[in-house]
Amino acid sequence: MEIDLKNLTIKKAHEDMVSGKYSAVDLASAYLEEIKKKDGELHTYLEVYGDVLEQANKADEIIKSGKAGLLTGIPISIKDNILIKGRKVSAGSKILENYTATYDATVIEKLKKEGVIFIGRTNMDEFAMGGSTENSAYGPTKNPIDVLRVPGGSSGGAVASVASGEVLVALGSDTGGSIRQPASFCGMVGLKPTYGLVSRYGLMAMGSSFDQIGPIGKTVEDVEIIFNVIKGNDPKDGTSLKNSDLKLESTVKNKMKIGVPYDSLNVGGLDKDVLDSFNESIEKLKKLGHEIVKIELPNLKYSLAVYYVLIPAEVSSNMARFDGVKYGLRLSGENGIDDYFVTRAEGLGGEVKRRIIIGTYVLSSGYYDAYYNKANLVRELIRDDYKKAFEKVDVIVTPTTPSVAFKIGEKANDPLQMYLEDIFTVPVNLAGVPAISVPCGFKMIDGKKLPIGLQFIANHCDEETLFKISKDFLCEFTL
Ligand code: GLN
Repeated sequence: MEIDLKNLTIKKAHEDMVSGKYSAVDLASAYLEEIKKKDGELHTYLEVYGDVLEQANKADEIIKSGKAGLLTGIPISIKDNILIKGRKVSAGSKILENYTATYDATVIEKLKKEGVIFIGRTNMDEFAMGGSTENSAYGPTKNPIDVLRVPGGSSGGAVASVASGEVLVALGSDTGGSIRQPASFCGMVGLKPTYGLVSRYGLMAMGSSFDQIGPIGKTVEDVEIIFNVIKGNDPKDGTSLKNSDLKLESTVKNKMKIGVPYDSLNVGGLDKDVLDSFNESIEKLKKLGHEIVKIELPNLKYSLAVYYVLIPAEVSSNMARFDGVKYGLRLSGENGIDDYFVTRAEGLGGEVKRRIIIGTYVLSSGYYDAYYNKANLVRELIRDDYKKAFEKVDVIVTPTTPSVAFKIGEKANDPLQMYLEDIFTVPVNLAGVPAISVPCGFKMIDGKKLPIGLQFIANHCDEETLFKISKDFLCEFTL
C-alpha cells in the first residue's frame, strides 16, 4: 500500500495504524524503502538498525491489543550522540567507531515506554562540533533539497532524515544551534528546549552548560508531541529542572508582544533574501494581530566571542575521558603516556583537536581569569539582556541563520566563517532559554528552492508560547 510519507504527521500515522489502514510494519517498511532509494546519496544515517521490522511487529501487537499510545509504532531517528543500550554510538568520531552503549539515555527510556520504532542513528559533526556535518569522521550528509549543499549541523543527519522522508521525526542535540540551523537549512521545524528541561543523561557531553536534546519534525505539532514525552525532571541529571517550573498552556496569550532586536540584526553577512523574508514575516505577524516591539539586547554582540571561549573550555574537559583506556579506540605508543597521544592523534578530528587546544589554553593558570572567567561574566550580562527583554515582551523573533544552506566545501577550511553561521542561535544557548526554528521563506538558487528559517525565542520554561506563536505563524505561511 502507498503511504503519503510527505504529508504524514504523528497524529495521522497513529490514526491510520489504529484504524487498520496500514500496520506499523507497513509504515516502517515504507521508510526503509525510502532509505534504500535515497540514503546512498544523502548519507543521513550512519546505521540503519537491523531489527526495525521486529520492533514494528511488537508495536503491531500492542496496537492490536487496543493499548496503543500516540507514539506506538512511530518511526524516529536518533542522533549518534544519544545512547541506546546495546547499540553502537560513535558521536560521528573514529575514536568511538566500535563503541556500544551500556545504558539507555533518559530520553530513550521514555520513548521506549511509548513504543516508538528506532530506525537508526544519524550522521553528525564529530562530537557535535560544527555546523555542516562535514566534520563527521564518516563523510558529510547532503542537503535533500540540493545535494551540492550541506544540510547544516551538527544534527545534519537528523534533520535531513526527516526532510528526505526517510523517517517521521528525529531527535537531535543543540549546543549553539545544532538543531535550529539545520532545521532552517532543510525547511523543517526544530526545537532547542530550555536548558535543564530535557535530561542530558545519556547524551554525550560537548558543552555541559549548553547542551540540550530536542525534537525535529515537519510540523510544530509533531515537535511538541515529542517534547512533551522527553521533557521532565530527572534525578540522574544534576542540572535538571523541576516539573513545576514549566509554564502552563492555559497562561499563554493569544495576542503577543513580539520583540525584535533590530540592532543585533545588523551583522555582516546577513543575506538580503534572508532579511527580506524576515521583514515579510514581521508583517505577517502584525497582520495576525500581534504587536511588534523594538527591543535591545546590547551584549549580544559578544555572544560568539564568549561562546568560543566557554565551549572549548568545556570541550577540553569533556574530551579528556577519551584517552584510549576507558572508551573506544586504543592504540599503543612507545609507553603509557605515548598511548594517549597516538590514540587521540589518530582517533580525533581537526575541529575537536582545535577546541581541545583552545580550551586548555583558556583554562590554563594565568589565562583563566583573562578568558574563562571574563567570558562567564559576559555570559551573565547576556542572560540579563534576555531577562530584561522578557519583562517587556512575550517572545523574541530573529532569523535563524544569516544565510541559506551553503555548498559542501565552501566553509570547511574557514572555521571563523563556520562559527559566524551561529550568530543568531548561540546567544540562546548562552542564556539557556528555549527557541524554535520554523520555515518562513525561500531563496531560489540554481533552480533550487532553498529554505529560510525564522527563530522564535521565549523565556525560560515557556515552550508553550513558542508552540502557540509558531502554529499561528505557519497557518499564514504556505510552502
Ligand atoms: N556550530 C556550533 C558549534 O560548532 C554549534 C554546535 C552545536 O550546537 N552542537 O559549536
